[in-house]
This record gives sequence, structure tokens and C-alpha cells, in this order.
Amino acid sequence: MHILDIFREHPTTFSFEFFPPKSDAAWADLFEQIHQLEELRPSFVSVTYGAGGSTRERTHDLVVKIKKETDLTAVSHLTCVCHCEEELASILDRYAESGVENILALGGDPPKDLDLPPGELVYAVELVELARSLGDFSIGVAAHPEPHPRSPSVEEDRRHTAEKLAEADFAITQFFFDAHHYFALVDALRGHGVDKPVIPGIMPVLSIGAIKRMTEMQGSEFPEWLSDKLHEVEDDPAAVRAIGIDEATKLCQTLLDGGAPGLHFYTLNRSTATRDIAANLGLDQPA
Ligand SMILES: Cc1cc2nc3c(=O)[nH]c(=O)nc-3n(C[C@H](O)[C@H](O)[C@H](O)COP(=O)(O)OP(=O)(O)OC[C@H]3O[C@@H](n4cnc5c(N)ncnc54)[C@H](O)[C@@H]3O)c2cc1C
Repeated sequence: MHILDIFREHPTTFSFEFFPPKSDAAWADLFEQIHQLEELRPSFVSVTYGAGGSTRERTHDLVVKIKKETDLTAVSHLTCVCHCEEELASILDRYAESGVENILALGGDPPKDLDLPPGELVYAVELVELARSLGDFSIGVAAHPEPHPRSPSVEEDRRHTAEKLAEADFAITQFFFDAHHYFALVDALRGHGVDKPVIPGIMPVLSIGAIKRMTEMQGSEFPEWLSDKLHEVEDDPAAVRAIGIDEATKLCQTLLDGGAPGLHFYTLNRSTATRDIAANLGLDQPA
């Protein structure tokens, strides 16, 4: 099903992101988690893409397997980096042949540990245009509430995001912990005349160390109020997790109350945190 049709039918979407596992055991475990999350009847799920060698194939395989073995609608991520245009076109053709209708078109980051060429398309908007020219895809893009770390200014990032989203159908954001970052992004995009759905990305804090690493990597803020709260209970992993779930629930509620058209959960291939937050929000009840 096209994501565009899902947005037309559902004023609020609820979606999950997975990454393709490396081992057979992790693959079997992921499918356990996916089946558990399927019970929540998400609007769609998405599968990340890595620029290096075999991870490319694994994204394709996971998306096709989800399509064949579940009732879920899958969105396949694809990145520009390290690919020539012809390679990207052949990946997109293969998705179209496999009946995959939804693509998240991304710039990507060159893998540090692999010596790969930089890639022919520089910005995600070029991949949106390529996908549009090749198939009947619903096309999403990334948006960065805080903004993207390579941008010289907030205004410039907002402008480029608006130009990109004008060509695409929807956006999913990088994760953040203060709702005002999301609302500022949406206001700026509207100011540029773009009002397509922008789905906030949600990452519950389950471990202080992991979230510190991830926020540093994506150049975003791990706010002091949250860090202080978590550090008070840092020796008690269950208490850290409980605060993480509670704060993520409050963030989701604020976003929905403020008009966010959905919630996209970075599951890290585990189902329990997402299921807890869904239960807190009453999203686990039959429609
Ligand atoms: C929801 C989501 C999913 C993601 N999934 C993946 C994944 O599966 N695999 C992966 O490797 N990474 C993934 N990423 C990370 C993403 O690839 C990186 O953040 C990357 O650095 C930027 O990607 P982008 O699509 O925003 O790039 P772009 O839109 O190309 O933007 C990159 C930078 O270039 C600037 N820019 C854009 N257009 C122009 C222009 N015309 N002129 C000058 N500057 C411009 C932007 O402001 C920004 O600073 C994801 C991110 C998000 C938010």
C-alpha cells in the first residue's frame, strides 16, 4: 500500500523502524519482535539502509520478507552515498519489480571504516527526483528538527528541507527530546509553503551511555533536564528505563496534542519499549 493512501485514510499514523540484522539468529529474533509489534497494527514499518557491501542486500531482503510474511506496509530506506546513479536506479527498479511501493530517500553518511567512492548524487532531493522518474513510489525524506549538523545555519537547513519535502510526499524526523524543536521545524516548513506530513521520530532513552553516543553522532542535544533526571538513578537500569519510557510517553502526547500527524518509533529492533509507550498512549487498543 502507498504511504500516501495511508495518510489519506488515517489522520494519525503509528510506525516503527528496524535495521537489517547481520546474523541468522538475530534475523529470527527480529521477526519475533516484528510479529509482536504487528499486533499493534502499525500504519507502516521502515527498514534502514547501510552504504557498505552486504548491508545493501539485507535491506532489500528484509523489506521483501516483511512484505511476503506479514500484513505490514514496508518503507525501504535508500541513501545516495557511495552509489553511482545507475546503481541507485537499478535498486529502485528492483523494488518496483518486487512490489515495494514506498521509499525513504536519504543523503546518507559515508561509512568511516570502508573505502568507498563518495557517490554521484550529492543531496537527498536528487534521489527523490530519481525515484519519482522511475516508478510509482510514495517517497519520504528525512527532516532534522535540531537541524542537520553539516548545515551552516538553521535557516539554510530549513530551506533545503522545505525544497526537498516539496518534491517528496512526507518526512520523518531525526529523534529529539524537546517538543519545541519539532514544532519550530514544522512552522518553518509552513513558512516556506510546505505542509506535507512531518512525522516525529521517537527514541526512548533505555540506556544513558547509548543515547549519549547517538546524540553526539547526529549532532543533537541530550538536554540537561533529562540527563540530570536519568543520572539521579544511573545505577538502577530499571529506573533509567522507566524514566525513558515515561518521558517518551509525555513527548508523544505533547506532539499529538500539538497536531503531529503520527509517531515513528526507532525500535532498535526491540519491541518492548514501543509496546509500553503505545499502551501508555492507549494506542494498543483495537480501533
Ligand atoms: C528518519 C531518518 C532515517 C534515516 N535512515 C538512514 C538510513 O537508513 N541509512 C543511513 O545511512 N542514514 C540514515 N539517516 C541519516 C541520514 O542519512 C543523515 O542524517 C545524513 O547525514 C543526511 O541525510 P538527509 O537525507 O537529511 O540529507 P540531505 O537532505 O541531502 O541533507 C544533508 C545536508 O545537506 C544540506 N543540503 C540539502 N540540500 C542542499 C542543497 N541543495 N545545497 C546545499 N546544501 C544542501 C542539508 O541542509 C543538510 O545539511 C536517517 C535519518 C533520518 C532522520
